Amino acid sequence: MKSSMNKLFDAVIVAGGVSSRMGYDKLSAPLGEQTVLARTLAPFLTSPQINNVILVTDKEFDAPEGVLFAPAGKTRSLSVLSGLKKVTAPFVLIHDGARPFVTTALLQKLCEEVAVHRSAVPYLPATDTMRRRVGEGHELCDRSEYIFLQTPQAFDTQEIKRAYALTGQSETDDSTLYEKHVGPCHYVEGDFANKKITRPEDLFGSNALVGTGFDIHRLVEGRAMRLCGVTIPYPLGEEAHSDGDAPVHALMDAILTALSLPDIGHLFPDTDPAYKDIDSTLLLTKVVRLVREKNRQIISADVVILLEKPKVAPFLTQMRNTLAALIGISPVKLGISATTTEKVGLIGQNQAVAALAVVSIL
Ligand code: MG
Repeated sequence: MKSSMNKLFDAVIVAGGVSSRMGYDKLSAPLGEQTVLARTLAPFLTSPQINNVILVTDKEFDAPEGVLFAPAGKTRSLSVLSGLKKVTAPFVLIHDGARPFVTTALLQKLCEEVAVHRSAVPYLPATDTMRRRVGEGHELCDRSEYIFLQTPQAFDTQEIKRAYALTGQSETDDSTLYEKHVGPCHYVEGDFANKKITRPEDLFGSNALVGTGFDIHRLVEGRAMRLCGVTIPYPLGEEAHSDGDAPVHALMDAILTALSLPDIGHLFPDTDPAYKDIDSTLLLTKVVRLVREKNRQIISADVVILLEKPKVAPFLTQMRNTLAALIGISPVKLGISATTTEKVGLIGQNQAVAALAVVSIL
């Protein structure tokens, strides 16, 4: 229980449902460093407006400090009713445990609106074209006539308790019951980010990894210049134990960093004769295999090459196609650019080539 002076608002978080469309417990699914349910609870626990946070669940859950528990019911409505019994504040926000992206700004708006209007239900306008089933066919709808409802839905506690006391059937949301037994709800604009996790795809993108890498090699005579797996005709080339392909090395380190794996110096030590003059793209292939072993995929990458001479613009397309094929993405998802350093430093004096890389992995 918070020591806040403000005791006007409690929250009921419903987490009793079976994730039939997910195939596993969606509330325990990882979301960043936390679970979906922990992320759902966080803004309620930190909101200055909300006093008690009541979690309705029968599952074992290592809840953060301050959460009160209520037993789950057989249906969503029975679970809400179970949570409502523990509500002591004049207003209550009822929220689905599977909506982890609710913001404190939305919570504040709902608290302000419900205090004035006795209910506050967030909605979104329909953005997709909609058709309605009619017999065997479909007819086009005017989507401006439709809204989608979100949670949390906020109510006068006594009124929503009365609506629940009067109902005999389960409803998928609370505004339906309120409108049936109390009166029309007050609707407020919701938040597109406040999406509900229903299917595994809904978490797609939420656990992306990012890595960065850097490499530099001195340029010397008698060596081939290798950049992104392409040999560039030029009198100087990278001094290295391997072929010295700096952008490929930077990209490998970016990938390894994203996966929290040891860097290329550890994986392919320059004391190992096996890597003497090796084509670095072969090493990149091994690194990409590590991505697949973790059931991850590279989704995009960006490489910057820093060198004074020669101009590499004529080779950029070939570099991009070569590198994209090696890491298994479409060339449009791979950016390669080259820049000089305006004659500044080792690179500017044509004594070295360097590369930076960024990668995102899902
Ligand atoms: Mg290197």
